Amino acid sequence: VEVMPEQIHPAGISVVARETSPPSPRRLEGKVAIVTGGARGIGEATVKLFARHGAKVVIADVDDSAGTRLAESMQGSTHHQYYCVSFVHCDVSVEEEMAHLVDSTVSRHGRLDVLFNNAGVLGNQSRPGGKSILHFDPDEFDRVMRVNVRGTALGIKHAARAMIHRSAGAGAGSGGGCIISTASVAGVSGGMGPHAYTASKHAIVGLTKNAACELGKYGIRVNCISPFGVATSMLVNAWRPHVYDDGEEEEEEEEEPTEEEVEKMEEFVRSLANLKGPTLRTKDIAEAALYLASDESKYVSGHNLVVDGGVTTSRNCVG
Ligand code: NAD
Repeated sequence: VEVMPEQIHPAGISVVARETSPPSPRRLEGKVAIVTGGARGIGEATVKLFARHGAKVVIADVDDSAGTRLAESMQGSTHHQYYCVSFVHCDVSVEEEMAHLVDSTVSRHGRLDVLFNNAGVLGNQSRPGGKSILHFDPDEFDRVMRVNVRGTALGIKHAARAMIHRSAGAGAGSGGGCIISTASVAGVSGGMGPHAYTASKHAIVGLTKNAACELGKYGIRVNCISPFGVATSMLVNAWRPHVYDDGEEEEEEEEEPTEEEVEKMEEFVRSLANLKGPTLRTKDIAEAALYLASDESKYVSGHNLVVDGGVTTSRNCVG
């Protein structure tokens, strides 16, 4: 393990490590990426994949211990490839923290090429169909909207600010950048999630389209990804009472799912899926983010990349 002292910043932990078999080509070589909600689940898988592909990655999350643990765990690899991964605490719904995240990334790495706006919450008692609109809870609605919509908009705002600034400094046409947000199948169809979550994910698709229109003139691409069910702690915690108990609803708990729970959830999602055979995993969403972050998608903007095995085009409904 080799740690480069100049890459250690007071805002977080920097890790430079090696691994065995680097992918070839490395599709994000030289790029600087932020992954919000990067400490766990889809974000964690994306941090690992982006780092393997040569990006310098900043993990941003409210969960300091999981974020720090992930950054540190990437020290352990050996041979051939260097990682540069760090952690910065950031609640995406707090503007000062988002601004600090972007500014500290730029001051540390000199630029920002990719923001993966992935942090999100599902809300309490929030399995699909779990709470009727007749029991609509305005406070819960505000909490979900605050993280999912306000957080995503703040991410777009501050990442675009940094990307435009670089573009202006380096001369017209030489800037650019890429912003990706995690929406959901609940941002495409009804009946896929609770009301606040569904509204928030539709809003992310809308924000993506508007921002793509506006930021294209700076060479900035804005896209989102809409996954179907992936057995992360978010999904397992939300469905735990439904799948594992007797159907009684409980408060959402922030527990890491056990291997057995993940397997059970994957089996459950497979039973709902339109496409029979494969299991949708965090790595599959990370691969979609890799495509949108790489130059291979250089003409793709304003797009919602739905990764759902055809669920939203079929008549299936998980609610
Ligand atoms: P997860 O719970 O495993 O990870 C979410 C991460 O976001 C956690 O590390 C959490 O600490 C962090 N986070 C929560 N609030 C935050 C905040 N205010 N600021 C910064 N970080 C915050 O969940 P996941 O399944 O990996 O979800 C990632 C994204 O994918 C979310 O936007 C979610 O809505 C979306 N999504 C998930 C699924 C699924 O089935 N898992 C499906 C569609 C979309």
